[in-house]
Amino acid sequence: MENKRNIGIAIHGGAGTILRSKMTPERETNYRNALKEALEVGYACLQQGQTAIDAVEAAVILLEDCPLFNAGKGSVFNAEGKQEMDASIMEGKELEAGAVAAIQGIKNPIKLARKIMEESAHILLIGEGASQFAQSHQLDFEAPKYFYNAYRYEQWQRLYGKEKAQLDHSEEETKPEEDEKYGTVGAVALDQFGNLAAATSTGGMTNKKFGRVGDSPIIGVGTYANNATCAISCTGSGEYFMRAVTAYDVSCLMEYKGLSLQAAAEEAIMNRLSQIGGSGGLIGMDAQGNIVMPFNCAGMYRGFQREKEQVVEIFKSHRSH
Ligand code: ASP
Repeated sequence: MENKRNIGIAIHGGAGTILRSKMTPERETNYRNALKEALEVGYACLQQGQTAIDAVEAAVILLEDCPLFNAGKGSVFNAEGKQEMDASIMEGKELEAGAVAAIQGIKNPIKLARKIMEESAHILLIGEGASQFAQSHQLDFEAPKYFYNAYRYEQWQRLYGKEKAQLDHSEEETKPEEDEKYGTVGAVALDQFGNLAAATSTGGMTNKKFGRVGDSPIIGVGTYANNATCAISCTGSGEYFMRAVTAYDVSCLMEYKGLSLQAAAEEAIMNRLSQIGGSGGLIGMDAQGNIVMPFNCAGMYRGFQREKEQVVEIFKSHRSH
């Protein structure tokens, strides 16, 4: 049993202009508790000898079920007033991956991504075809009222009829362009067998065009895992992450340039993504159990758990892990 003492999990619940001045103590506690719970569920899988893919799926399911985050139940409204969700999952041993895009009504898109990985010959299914696949595998669907959330509806109403799509968690008193937050959720983990895995799930952007797909379900962009390098899950302005091919970029910088996870992740976010105007962050883990969580905006809901160590953070801090 390799790496037993390095098992661990890291999660995110989105990044952006998450300002301390805008956060009430109650909201902060709710976010922290949800992140803590997801970490504990994911870490328990690893401790019980389950694989990294089980751990990331379990943590993401919990975040999808929590209305605070823009994924699953808490997904934002698109320009048609519907929730279209994207998700992906990847394991680092065989480089198997599954993804789903522009899906409506499914309770846990990450479960569907995993089914596509394990029980289809494909990587990415979209829309109606993805729904049929989910039905044939008895995955749970929910009626629109399950996804309805008054806060998200108001977010959408403020943008309705405009050309602009907006990132999640914006607040009434702030102009959208001053307050960009991305509520996507994700997890990366290392199991006792030395396997890495990554998962990402999102409702995308408020008022996004019908049919818009972001970075989250694109393997190598929003999600990537390779036991030889790292596991990565991204959150932020999806179109920029797609142009920067961010998740795979971190892996390439490690593989081809010999950079550490820390150096590679910093380069990808602080330099390459920033240079083209993208904002957001990522969580990453390598096969030694090192964890990084860089972001180039005010905050990122994030946390990690390893043996005897649990950290949950929202705002900028100077700790390194
Ligand atoms: N990256 C996601 C997207 O563009 C948004 C987010 O991270 O919240 O769809």
